[in-house]
Amino acid sequence: MSHTTRFAPSPTGRLHVGNIRTALHNWMLAQKAGGDFILRIDDTDAARSREEYVEAIRADLAWLGIEATREERQSQRLDRYQAAFDALRNAGRIYPAYETSQELELKRKVQLGRGLPPIYDRAALDLTEEQRAAKEAEGIAPHWRFKLDHDEAIAWEDGVRGKASFDPATLSDPVIRRADGSWLYMLPSTVDDVDMGVTQVLRGEDHVSNTAVQIQMFTAMGATPPAFAHEALLVGKEGKLSKRLGSLGCDAFRERGIEPEAIIALLARLGTSLPVEPIADRAELLDTFDLSTFGRAPAKFDDADLERVNTAIVHAMPFEAVKHRLPEGMDEAGWHAVQPNVSNMSEVGEWWRLVTGPIQQPGFSEDDRAFLAQAADALVWGDDPWRALTSALKEATGRKGKQLFLPLRQALTGMDHGPDMGELLPLIGEGEARARLEKAGG
Ligand code: GLU
Repeated sequence: MSHTTRFAPSPTGRLHVGNIRTALHNWMLAQKAGGDFILRIDDTDAARSREEYVEAIRADLAWLGIEATREERQSQRLDRYQAAFDALRNAGRIYPAYETSQELELKRKVQLGRGLPPIYDRAALDLTEEQRAAKEAEGIAPHWRFKLDHDEAIAWEDGVRGKASFDPATLSDPVIRRADGSWLYMLPSTVDDVDMGVTQVLRGEDHVSNTAVQIQMFTAMGATPPAFAHEALLVGKEGKLSKRLGSLGCDAFRERGIEPEAIIALLARLGTSLPVEPIADRAELLDTFDLSTFGRAPAKFDDADLERVNTAIVHAMPFEAVKHRLPEGMDEAGWHAVQPNVSNMSEVGEWWRLVTGPIQQPGFSEDDRAFLAQAADALVWGDDPWRALTSALKEATGRKGKQLFLPLRQALTGMDHGPDMGELLPLIGEGEARARLEKAGG
């Protein structure tokens, strides 16, 4: 059966690694089952939502290659929420409440002081018609709560957590609409999931109690709830929810030269029983993607894992996949020469500069200068000029090992280490190589 999934960010900030993971898993669920993956912009909070974040979310997802089949916006669906609200209100499932936030806070404090859970006491349900009219005459507009049905436990089979069950009496009737008429998250999300035919809701376990409430909303609207799965949260490597992760997003990854494929490979498997491997082929990741491999322990995000996966992916990247990102003039041979020496793409330019120059040679001893001058004369250009040069010099001077190779490398590249000289020398070219040797020998 095909799956319809959604990723529903609020455009009140940039995506961070935690939401990227949720987006990815929803995309994978839909890809694997051949269904739709909807990007739903949860922008009912007009004061905090910003268009620039909507654009940034789209751009980040595009960079990651997590493309939505379609996009929906809550701000364009307000009439749908109103219709659902009216129907639920007529059915007695929504009621007005007049407490101020100070009054609610006081109630909570009293309950906590008595050692009771701070659950809304439903006082508003006991108001008479006259009492309500009196509040409104005083100019107090109501906010609105969804009335939970306390008759039976709310149960579902969670795709990650297994059997889940909630006693509705342990939950407050949620406020779904503010006094100014604006919407809170709970009802619009449920209406959308019904209207958009969402079949699987996969999100963080911080939403578990929302799911309990929303299951009652689906039922109250006469709809079958989707399948739910709640993944364990992403934490820092020290095992705690970390502020840093909450602000770590695509810009920071890009700046560090992290490939989208490395992020995908890591996040696809972090927190699952499958090993994190540098798999750049999404089909392979999709093949093994399975909610039953997800564990309940928090998934630990460690930058060192990301770097390791990134380096391995860069080391395996074919020329065709990177050619549009290489420095001007760098061809396939150039890529192969520097590829093993870079841990990310931002380092390519530094190594390529050894070929294009200018380079900075170190000071050489007199002995080395004579040797390098001899090298300039010994240079002959054939199939493998490095091998030819080093064997001729070895023979002529008796030098070997470091004594033979280091001054040559330093004279030709200005560095003590770097890409394989056999690959680099042909790229430097005969004229330039001779000039560098002569300069060092002079
Ligand atoms: N906008 C909600 C959030 O970002 C969506 C939650 C959901 O997936 O239903 O938390």
